[in-house]
Amino acid sequence: MSVAIYDREAEQMDRDRLAQLQLERLQATLHRVYKNVKFYKRKFDALGFLPEDCQSLEDLRRLPFTTRHDLAQAYPYEMFAVPLREVVRIHSSTGSPGNPIVMGYTARDLRNWAKLAARVLTAAGVDRDDVVQVTLSYGLLTSAFGLHYGVELLGASVIPTGPGGTARQVQIMRDYRTTVLISTPGYALVIAQQMEEMGVDPKNLFLKVGLFAGEPWTEAQRAEIESRLYLTALDNYALSEAMGPGVAGECPYRQGMHLNEDHFLAEIVDPATGEVLPPGELGELVLTTITREATPLVRFRTGDLTCLDLSPCPCGRTLARLSRISGRADNVVVVKGINIFPERVGQILSAFAGEEPVYQLVIGREGPLDFLEIRVEVREGLFFDKMTSQRQLLQTLAHKLAQGIGVSPRVKLVEPGSILRQGETSPLVLDLRK
Ligand code: ZN
Repeated sequence: MSVAIYDREAEQMDRDRLAQLQLERLQATLHRVYKNVKFYKRKFDALGFLPEDCQSLEDLRRLPFTTRHDLAQAYPYEMFAVPLREVVRIHSSTGSPGNPIVMGYTARDLRNWAKLAARVLTAAGVDRDDVVQVTLSYGLLTSAFGLHYGVELLGASVIPTGPGGTARQVQIMRDYRTTVLISTPGYALVIAQQMEEMGVDPKNLFLKVGLFAGEPWTEAQRAEIESRLYLTALDNYALSEAMGPGVAGECPYRQGMHLNEDHFLAEIVDPATGEVLPPGELGELVLTTITREATPLVRFRTGDLTCLDLSPCPCGRTLARLSRISGRADNVVVVKGINIFPERVGQILSAFAGEEPVYQLVIGREGPLDFLEIRVEVREGLFFDKMTSQRQLLQTLAHKLAQGIGVSPRVKLVEPGSILRQGETSPLVLDLRK
């Protein structure tokens, strides 16, 4: 398997050295935001915290979070830590209700962005011989740009098609001999559909790998994209508020997305209490940028649920890995005083059944007590239909779920299609207590 690494010094850094580098960069960031961003000066002053009080990486935990709401309130330039004359690019995102969130980039920010994108592209197996078709949006959103400049930095050829015009995309893919597709997972399937309609067999194309980002997707979608487009599909984490694509990406071993920890400090917190969780536990990703000049962020709550894996990766990178983003933190429900991530139920069900069934959490109250019912749609081949084995299966499943989420649920198998659909998607959680 290919083990090309773009920046061996950074990506294979000894973890003690990495921690030292992170601390130095964190201290510099805290000084900069305290001096230049009123929002952070106010927050630090309220705590009686001075940047020099940060003596270890753990001291970061003393600082408050930054939320999307804070960023929207700061519209347009309040979070900028440099004067506008030093800003060479402005992007914005609509990730919050209310004002857009505005991100600025200095020339050095853009250089770093291209280098980090080059790292994730290299990890995906892209090199200078490749022809890369970027179907993400070129506009105010960060999506296409980061990867675009990463491709150029690697010396590969970039075709900036942007999204849409799917028949033309397929034609370009065939005629220009595209080897790498960059897209959202959803659009990849639209392209596959278009190929089928045009009678284009992906086996006759030159595609070898796809980098997908921009929306949550599942292993089942990955398998579908791989078989319909005849390529290797890799997961990427693109957080626009922190930078854009290039924050983290999978290597060919696909055991999570390597996070560029020399530029971003990650914490996983309990979304309800904000308490920092140990590696391996599922929680909300909180990122601190430690090299961003124009719009640095301290303890930014991403709202994305993931866990951090520090175990060695066969590719040789020492950077920690983020597991596939399994949902949004704001989906957390509290049952009997215990925080439950509905997506965790999905993970347990798919580990049990081999694929993720359609399911729903129904929460209600009997007298003073909460109950949790997990409805699972039965599908042929997914669950047995014999009565005796079904009872046993339900017991085993309820036991596994109780172990995984900390609350004993009732498990109810229901007919396919019977889980209430509201609009396009069924609500994952039906809370009857409200
Ligand atoms: Zn790896």
